[in-house]
Amino acid sequence: MTTIIDGKALAKKINAQTQELVAQLREKQNIIPGIAVVIAGDDAASLIYTRNKHNKAIKLGINSILKKFPANVSQDELLTEIEKLNNDDTIDAILVQQPLPPQLDPEVITNAIVPAKDVDGLNPLNLGKLFANQHGNYPVACTPRGIMRMLAEYNIDLQGKNAVIVGRSILVGKPLLALLNNANATVTMAGRNTRDLSALTKTADILIVATGVPHLIKATDVKPGAVVIDVGINRLSDGKLTGDVDFEAVKAKAQAITPVPGGVGPMTIATLMEQTVDLAQWRHHG
Ligand code: NAD
Repeated sequence: MTTIIDGKALAKKINAQTQELVAQLREKQNIIPGIAVVIAGDDAASLIYTRNKHNKAIKLGINSILKKFPANVSQDELLTEIEKLNNDDTIDAILVQQPLPPQLDPEVITNAIVPAKDVDGLNPLNLGKLFANQHGNYPVACTPRGIMRMLAEYNIDLQGKNAVIVGRSILVGKPLLALLNNANATVTMAGRNTRDLSALTKTADILIVATGVPHLIKATDVKPGAVVIDVGINRLSDGKLTGDVDFEAVKAKAQAITPVPGGVGPMTIATLMEQTVDLAQWRHHG
C-alpha cells in the first residue's frame, strides 16, 4: 500500500503547536512574534500567497503587517522600507514575495534583509551556514525545511539513500541539496540541461521534483518503492491545480508520495509561521 503523505494534516498539527507557543510567549514573556510580508506589483498568484500568509499569521496570534507597493516602485523606495523593517523592534521576520517587477534586482533586495530576520533563508550568510552545516540557529528556506519535517514525520530514512532533486532554484532545490546532504543522503541535483533525466530519476530512493513543469515525472521515471515529493504547483487550463508528478500513475509504484494540492504547499506556510516564532525567540534569547 502506498502511503499518501498528508501535508495538510501535518500542517494543521504544526499550526496548532505554533498557536499554543505564541500564546505562551505572549503570556509568560510578553513576546509577540511579528512578520512583515512585502509585495510589489499585482501578480494575481502572489497577491493570493501573501494574503494567505498574512491571514494565517493573524489567526495564530502573530503580529503581521502586509506592505503593498505598486508595480513601478523604485528599488530605493523598497530598500528604504526594508531598512525600516530591519530596525523595527516589533518585526522578527521579513518576507519579500517573489517574483519582483523587472526594475528590482532580487539579489539586492533579498540581501538587504538583515540575516536575523531573513525568514526565507535566502541571505548568503544563512545559506552559507546551511551548506557548512554549522551549529546554532539560523533560518532555512521554508519549503525545504517543511519537506524535511514531512520526511521525518513519516520516518523516512535518509542515511545513505540516493536522493535526486529535479529543479535547482535557490528557494527550493539548492537548500534541499544541503539539507539532504547534511542528513547523510547521497544527493544528485538535476535541471533543465540534465541529459537523460529519466535514467537519473530511476536511481532515486527519494525523488523530489520542483520544476513547474506539469507531470514532468511519469511512472516510467520512478524506481519501484521510491519516496516521491512533488513541490510543483501548476494551474491547468480547467483551473485545477496539479503537480510536477503524474500522481495517479506514480502512486501505483511509489512507497510514499505527496499529493498536489495537500502535500508540500500547506507545509510551506506552516513552516513559515513556525520559523517566524523561532526568529522571535532567537532574537530575544540568542
Ligand atoms: P524555478 O523556476 O525557480 O526553478 C525551476 C527549476 O526547474 C530550474 O532549476 C530548472 O532548471 C528546472 N527545470 C525546469 N524545466 C525542467 C525540465 N524539463 N527538466 C528538468 N529540470 C527542469 O522554480 P521554483 O521557484 O523552484 O518552483 C518550482 C515549482 O515549485 C513551481 O511549480 C512552483 O510554483 C512550486 N513551488 C511550490 C512551493 C510550495 O510551497 N509547494 C514553494 C515554492 C515553489
